[in-house]
Amino acid sequence: MTDSYTLNSAGLPPVERALAIFAHPDDPEFFVGGTLALLAQQGVEVHVLIVTDGAKGSDDRTVSRDRLVTLRRDEQREATRRLGGHQVHFLDFPDGELRHSHETVRAVVRQLRWLRPELVLSGDPQRFFYEGGFINHADHRAVGAITIDAVFPAARNFRYFPELLAEGLEPWYVRELWLAAPFHANHEIATDAVADVRLHAILAHQSQVGDGEQLRSWYEEQRSRGEPFVERFHRVELGGPPHTASEEIHQLLEEEGEEEGH
Ligand SMILES: [Zn+2]
Repeated sequence: MTDSYTLNSAGLPPVERALAIFAHPDDPEFFVGGTLALLAQQGVEVHVLIVTDGAKGSDDRTVSRDRLVTLRRDEQREATRRLGGHQVHFLDFPDGELRHSHETVRAVVRQLRWLRPELVLSGDPQRFFYEGGFINHADHRAVGAITIDAVFPAARNFRYFPELLAEGLEPWYVRELWLAAPFHANHEIATDAVADVRLHAILAHQSQVGDGEQLRSWYEEQRSRGEPFVERFHRVELGGPPHTASEEIHQLLEEEGEEEGH
């Protein structure tokens, strides 16, 4: 039905453009920094979309809200640059209040139809808890749910958000969706080769990690234990658009046949 391709030896697809969609500045580096660095090294145009304004990311009462937002935007741009990424985009929904809604899904669909990435990376919304007793931030879960629904079916179906069509934003078929820190992993990327690049990028978020001493020692401990650096994903292959109307009908008939149990 659609053009197929194989992943390369690093486990990456031969795409032209990738978009990482996350809630806060610093999330892309923590969740998928190694994978983004590898994609960039492979020549993929890597974009980052930060959905909230990051305005709650500090306990320092001497830093104003506006100062914090500006600082974190600058840190995100620098971090993306260090990963070899192309551009950062911001949607500025209020930090800590991100919800799956008509408005938030539309905002992400607009970016998908405008940037036209074949590969989209985000976080798994099913992940409530991490090992060690950590709770996955509500914004992280929300951005995953928003991204899934924006990718499929809204971005590819012209009947969703007709106002976007009126803006000239035609439907876009994201081919692959990779959800990081997944509940069930079915794909992993070895990131040893770019572990230092990722660390350097995380350290750009000085408002979040300070002097980075703790991070550096974690990296060194992991290395001294001989543990590989790996990023795991729930990989969803969506495929591109059907070539013709008749192929589309054929595909629909096949799917109906499968549902009826042949
Ligand atoms: Zn976050």
